[in-house]
Formats: sequence, C-alpha cells, structure tokens
Amino acid sequence: MSIQFEIEATHGPARLGKMTTPHGIVETPVFMPVGTLASVKGVPQDLLEDLGVQILLGNTYHLYLRPGVETVRRMGGLHGFMSWNRAILTDSGGFQVFSLNELRKVTEEGVTFRSHLDGSSHFFSPESAMEAEIGLGADIIMAFDECTEFPAEPARARASMEMTLRWAERSKRYFEAHKQEVPWGSYQPSAISHQQKQIPRPLAPENDNDGGIQAGANQSLFGIVQGGMDLVLRKESAERTVEIGFPGYAIGGLSVGEPREVTREVVEATLQYLPADQPRYLMGVGTPDEIAMYAAMGVDMMDCVLPTRAARHGLLFTSEGKVSIKQARYASDPAPLDPACSCRVCTRYSRAYLRHLYAANEVLAQVLNTIHNLSFYLDTMRRVRHSIRLGEGARFLSGVSSQPKP
Ligand SMILES: [Zn+2]
Repeated sequence: MSIQFEIEATHGPARLGKMTTPHGIVETPVFMPVGTLASVKGVPQDLLEDLGVQILLGNTYHLYLRPGVETVRRMGGLHGFMSWNRAILTDSGGFQVFSLNELRKVTEEGVTFRSHLDGSSHFFSPESAMEAEIGLGADIIMAFDECTEFPAEPARARASMEMTLRWAERSKRYFEAHKQEVPWGSYQPSAISHQQKQIPRPLAPENDNDGGIQAGANQSLFGIVQGGMDLVLRKESAERTVEIGFPGYAIGGLSVGEPREVTREVVEATLQYLPADQPRYLMGVGTPDEIAMYAAMGVDMMDCVLPTRAARHGLLFTSEGKVSIKQARYASDPAPLDPACSCRVCTRYSRAYLRHLYAANEVLAQVLNTIHNLSFYLDTMRRVRHSIRLGEGARFLSGVSSQPKP
C-alpha cells in the first residue's frame, strides 16, 4: 500500500479530499511548505506540527549534495533524520538542476551538472534520481523530468516533452524494481541492517495523524506533465503520462517566467486530462490568491517557496494585502501585523516590534515572519476546504483575497 486518495466533497471542479500516506493523513487541497534542506528555514518541527502542517516538501538536489543521501538513509530516511513523523514529498531534482543554467548539460541519458556549492561535477539520470529519492524515503516522490525553459520554440518544447515521457517510463521502471528499499519499509538490504539498529525510534504517536506505519507500506511515485506553454502539447503530455500510469500526477514546468495568466491557462487546459479520482499536484505556485484559485480549479496539492522566502525578506501576506514590515511607517505601530490572523505572532506581537526585529537584523525576525506567512497560507487552504465542504463557491476566492475577515 502506498497512498489512498478519497474525494469527500466537490464544488464545481474543486475537490475536498483525504490522502492517506504511510505517514499520516493529508487533507486536500493542501499547501505544502518547502523544507529544502530537511528544514523549513527558521521553524522547528514541533511548531510546524502546531501550525497543522500535514505534509512537507524536501529538495532532492540539495539533500543529495548536503548531507548526502546515504547519511539520510542511515537515519531512517528524512522522517527519522529530521524527526518528522508526518508526510513528506520530495521533488526529483530535475527543476533544481534546470535552474543551474550554465552549470548543466542534458543528454538522453541524464543531466550532468556542477554543484552550486563547490563546483564538483555530478550526474542525475531517471535511475539515479529515483535511487536518491528512495534513499531519502519521502512518502511521495516525483519522476525525473526535464523542465522546459520559457520561452521555448515549438520543436524544442516537443522534444523536451518527449524526453520527459521517456524519463517517466525509466523512473517508473527503476522505482518498481527498487521501491522495497525505502529506509522505513519492511525489507532492509543486509548491508545496512546493522546501521538500521541505530536509527532513532519512531516518534510516539501524538494524534491520529501520527500513527505507525502499516506493514508493507511503500512510497508513491507521481508522474509530471510537461509541454511548455503549448496547450496541445500539454494535453498530449497529460494523456501519455496517464498511460504510463502513476498514483498521482503533477503539472510541472510552470512559474518559469511566464505571465500569470498563461500559468492559469496551462493549468486549466491540463487538469481536464488528469484522472478525476487521483491527486493532482501543481508544482511551484503561488501567492495566497493564486493557491485558492488553483484549488477552485481542481488542484489538490501545491508548494511554493514564496511564503517562507518572502518572510525572510520582511514581506508578509495578510488579509489586508502585502505588508513590507521594514517600512518606517510601522516603527511605532502598536497594531498586530494582521488583525484578522489568529497565529501566535499576530496574537502576541506588534508591527512595531516586528519592524524593529527586522531592522535590527535579529534572527527572531525571520522566525516570526515565517511563522505568520505559513499560518496565513495554511489558514487560506483551511478556508478553501471549508468552503468546498459547505458548497460556497463565491466565498472561496473572496475569503482569501484582500478582504478582511468579518
Ligand atoms: Zn499571523
């Protein structure tokens, strides 16, 4: 058993779902905070649990370079290593390698790239990316794909899509042959069995969501739809990826510099070709308004570095719009950051204090800002789920935009 996905309610194309993973239940539509290096920068795991985070994202490229897959695997995978007993998803490294631009070379076999840390040369293929993702042990792992650059000529977009399809098949073949090697699975290769004994014991269950792992549980490999911004290619990519057969599907290759309206069009055009009874993951988007909009369109899972990265730069999302906390106008402002937000930052601290922390370059500024932004994103998705359950389409979008809550 890998994941189970149940749709509990729908409203138009929007779906309220429950995804059961080997490490607990994820209510969808869900926003997944990004924990690039097995850490959501500045926020400890117990706090993420308090915020209601049910699934985190880790980046294979970064973890492969540092601390290395073998180190993580010996600690029981990411769950054991970072002491996080809820669900985790890892990307395949394809997008990160794509972002290296001048530091990479793509062939049919895979991608040779240089580490952004020390310039050392590395190679990712569908097989080696799967090996890394199995070693990291996330509940959901992604096929190795090529993210098509924007803009791309039609012939280039097609060639890239075709290669991603071939890589998807190779990813699946390797995964099916090796999935039992996941560090928390029932089977352990003898070579590492003596090290397995040193793995920290699984965390005691704290609630229903943190229960033990079922015997025989495995990771789930999701396919990724590419095709650039060409809607015909997107349709073909979706249909042919579905033909290969995965327990869930992602829409990749977006947020690469295209206008937001184009992103929306591509998502809308692609969603209709993905199976209605399986999870759909839109990679790398977006603002609070956008994630609500995509959920309304029928997306079940999203991730984005925006709330955490913006927070570290003093940019905060609130029910009254964006706030740049560094501005002098907040220096003596006794009001909470967002009067409509019930997070632990907004219920305790003033804008003046947050502005001071930021201006003084205090580490706490990054911590508090990140906690608020994550809370705001998670609350946005909670409201979206609530609206789908109640069948309230209109409130759905307006409730998360610039309108203050009543
Ligand atoms: Zn807040």
